[in-house]
Amino acid sequence: MKMNDAIPFLDLITPHQELKEQLCNVFTAALEKGAFVGGAMVEEFERDFALFSGATYCIGVANGTDALRFAIMAAGIKKDTLVITVPNTFIATTEAISQAGATPVFVDVNERTYNMDPCKLREYLEQQCEADPGSGEIIDRFRMKPVSAIIPVHLYGQMADMDAIMENAAAYGLPVIEDACQAHGAQYFSRARGEWQKAGSIGRAAAFSFYPGKNLGACGEGGAVTTNDPEIAQKIRMLRDHGQARKYYHEVEGYNGRLDAIQAGLLRVKLRHLAEWNERRRDAAQWYFELLNDAGLEGLALGEPAWSNGVYHLFVVRVENREELMRRLASENIGTAIHYPVPLHLQQAYRHLGYQVGDFPVAEAAAPEILSLPMFPQLGRDQQERVVNAIRRLMSPGEEVIAREMWAHA
Ligand SMILES: *Cc1c(COP(=O)(O)O)cnc(C)c1O
Repeated sequence: MKMNDAIPFLDLITPHQELKEQLCNVFTAALEKGAFVGGAMVEEFERDFALFSGATYCIGVANGTDALRFAIMAAGIKKDTLVITVPNTFIATTEAISQAGATPVFVDVNERTYNMDPCKLREYLEQQCEADPGSGEIIDRFRMKPVSAIIPVHLYGQMADMDAIMENAAAYGLPVIEDACQAHGAQYFSRARGEWQKAGSIGRAAAFSFYPGKNLGACGEGGAVTTNDPEIAQKIRMLRDHGQARKYYHEVEGYNGRLDAIQAGLLRVKLRHLAEWNERRRDAAQWYFELLNDAGLEGLALGEPAWSNGVYHLFVVRVENREELMRRLASENIGTAIHYPVPLHLQQAYRHLGYQVGDFPVAEAAAPEILSLPMFPQLGRDQQERVVNAIRRLMSPGEEVIAREMWAHA
């Protein structure tokens, strides 16, 4: 590796080259069998991914957005209700809510974890909602609509504080759907149960994305729902396949939302390597923490909460002059990205929801300062040293790039 070789933000070439023969065999097998939609390849992957995620059922679907939408619909979330989520997520989370006929309502994230703040969730339910004496439904007093579900997002591959979220959900009789699209294999230590739980096994259902850049990525589009509830599993199997359990007998109107056989076969090959890839991401994160520490920049990176055994989909730092740092890293051939530059409540697409600047101060303060550094399983230690050296040079005294005191890594 020469000193000025490009360090990509993400490497989608090496892992596929390493597995090229096995991946090509999947394609050959599909051509020989003529099996392109449904069939054994999909079922085998579903069985393996359910096992990996610690859930009873896995239903492969076309993408993560479909996974969220089908999970919302199958969990019985009614139209014209409100679904609680966070403003600092990818728009797919809220698109799925709207497409299921509900409306997103936001609660802010915790300033240390960047995931849903259970205290703010509680505050919203206690202060802005009241139980309808007749139906017992939880009604948002300002929006005059019932609240029907909670969708925490395990952002960046770190677990949201699920014990506290599940406790609030139970107190208000609301189902929880995990957006696990960035968290394949992440684990949460439940103090309530005294055990580790896998992302995708905790809520009523969970959504995963297999978009190529995710920790488990297809060579195209893919997604899955995991659940322990046989009825939800059955409903999603129908929703993804035009509302039919038997061909041409349609119980409801559904969607064309299936995972195709070739993608399932490719995902199954890659799934065998996922635990190791996640471990390599954790090692890389640990090395970033050590390098930042040695550079006196230990406050720069997002830490890992004690309850989370994260899978580092992204490695995020926070600086005051983010654009400058990004520009200068780019000038040294180092790729970075922003997840995400504008919180959803301030997006043009959601103007009709009526939110304003100042509504979610934690998410709003983070958005202009967060930067995702190169992170992928094959990232080399020497490459990480180059990244941190570059950051250190740019952040020396007199430079305008100033470290934000983040949650020092425990
Ligand atoms: C990627 C992602 C999705 C959507 O997945 P697609 O497969 O692109 O539809 C949803 N939520 C989050 C948090 C994501 O990162």
